[in-house]
Amino acid sequence: MLDCLPETVEPIGLADAGRSFRGEIAIAAFERLRPLLADTEGGLRVLLTFRRDERRLRVLTGLIEGRLRLICQRCLQALEFPLQVEFRLGIVASEAEIDRLPEGYEPLLANGELLRTADVVEDEILLLIPAVPMHGGETQCESGYRNRPVQERDNPFSVLEKLKT
Ligand SMILES: [Zn+2]
Repeated sequence: MLDCLPETVEPIGLADAGRSFRGEIAIAAFERLRPLLADTEGGLRVLLTFRRDERRLRVLTGLIEGRLRLICQRCLQALEFPLQVEFRLGIVASEAEIDRLPEGYEPLLANGELLRTADVVEDEILLLIPAVPMHGGETQCESGYRNRPVQERDNPFSVLEKLKT
């Protein structure tokens, strides 16, 4: 049973109840991500499932899909960054419980208070964003850069060629 994505979530209660949500989050809602983006138009599709797994561990599994427009650090133009991420978090009520999580689970610290859904999703996205986003190669940067080729004189091999002749 899928419900619309709520603005806030209380992970422990939702896991005990076994609830799933699907919806879209506006990219503009991601406050920490915003400075890294060329623009904040559109949204990301999100699917969140809170449940207790076979070990009775409270987990949140999720899927995030869509695309962001990062800023290329070479040409400072927009860089399309497609997102299709699955994640799996162990819901813990205290720092002490983090150590008891099985292998493969990242912790989601929840103490019964409401968490902003966008914050939970944003945490996962921030893990994926490259520290220095760049277009695939100099040839793929915007025209100003594409037309500024590596100068022949900067190329050590062409210098060698000239020495030979
Ligand atoms: Zn670029």
